[in-house]
Amino acid sequence: MKYIGAHVSASGGVENAPVNANSIGAKAFALFTKNQRQWFSNPLSKANIKAFRENCEKYDYKPFQILPHDSYLINLGHPEEEPLEKSRASFLDEMQRCELLGLDKLNFHPGSHLNSIGIEECLKRIAESINIVLGKTKGVTAVIENTAGQGTNLGHTFEQLWAIIDSVEDKSRVGVCIDTCHAFASGYDVKSPEGFKKTFEKFNEIIGFEFLKGMHLNDSKKEFATRVDRHENIGKGFMGEDVFRMLMNDSRFDNIPLILETPEESLWEAEIKKLYSYVTPHITEERRG
Ligand SMILES: [Zn+2]
Ligand SMILES: [Zn+2]
Repeated sequence: MKYIGAHVSASGGVENAPVNANSIGAKAFALFTKNQRQWFSNPLSKANIKAFRENCEKYDYKPFQILPHDSYLINLGHPEEEPLEKSRASFLDEMQRCELLGLDKLNFHPGSHLNSIGIEECLKRIAESINIVLGKTKGVTAVIENTAGQGTNLGHTFEQLWAIIDSVEDKSRVGVCIDTCHAFASGYDVKSPEGFKKTFEKFNEIIGFEFLKGMHLNDSKKEFATRVDRHENIGKGFMGEDVFRMLMNDSRFDNIPLILETPEESLWEAEIKKLYSYVTPHITEERRG
């Protein structure tokens, strides 16, 4: 079964995210557990945690349907010591917030080399950051997102994502989230049926579907392989709707959160409905008497 939702607002408290998700008919959701523009925020209160858990129960969201996203400031591959330490401390805080909320995943962008260190060195640093933080936490999987490869952002090829995973000691607590817009922008042709088939064959070969812990469903405002990260609403960008139709009818994407991060929030409810409408029911041989 497919679990589609969106990255909903948690303003006013994390407990509002499941309420906002339910109001648009989402079967999954993403959220920031703190202000994403700050390195550190106030700790979650007991009341926040209790209300979050109660609302998730009320609207029937289990941890596997929820994909929290970390702050954009964090760079786990930072070339300099001080910002690297700050990133690791902030990431640890984010992982601990997930632990407190009873969530089992944290989605993040791998990191950037900032033209100061080599790609391999940066990938090693990212893996080391993950190892450090996994060593200090329990039950939360670090979910690395593929990027569009904008600027010096790493993680825009399956090989780079695997290079990180390969150096993570506890493979049971590391995974990936594939963003459709980032894949397209970074040069994976997921748009055509042959391209879609090849891309995910390659994904399975290099990384493996057992590591796929979530997807971001976004169309792209920019053309193929431009390495520019600009999301567009479904069917309104350069990717078209076929990629989403193929995805919705492919069981390899079952039972993980499929999250919209499209710019026009007022369309989310309709986008969720539209995506579900793409599912073609299996035609049975059963005949009516
Ligand atoms: Zn994304
Ligand atoms: Zn993006």
